Amino acid sequence: MFNLRKTTRARNSNALLHHVAIDQDLCNWCGACVSVCPPDSLFLYEEWLAIDHETCTRCERCVKMCPVHALHMAAGSPESTPS
Ligand code: SF4
Ligand code: SF4
Repeated sequence: MFNLRKTTRARNSNALLHHVAIDQDLCNWCGACVSVCPPDSLFLYEEWLAIDHETCTRCERCVKMCPVHALHMAAGSPESTPS
C-alpha cells in the first residue's frame, strides 16, 4: 500500500479544508464510486478502497454514488481521518 498523505498536504492546500473519507468497514468493494470519479482518484485493491487525495477534486460524485454510504466528506486534512 502506498502512502499519499505527505504529498497531499504539501501540494494541495485545499486538503486542509475537507476531503473524502472512506469507511472500510461499510465498503463492499462494488466499484461504483471508482466508475464515476472524473480524475480516476479511487482505486480498488481486492478488498480495500484507496483514494489519491492529491488528484481528488472533491466533487463528491463518489459520495453521492455509494449505495452503502461508505464515503463522506470530512473536515480537515486526510491525516485526521484514517482510510
Ligand atoms: S470527490 Fe470526486 S474527484 Fe474525489 S474521489 Fe470522489 S469522485 Fe473522485
Ligand atoms: S461505491 Fe461505496 S461500497 Fe462501492 S466501492 Fe465505493 S465506497 Fe465501496
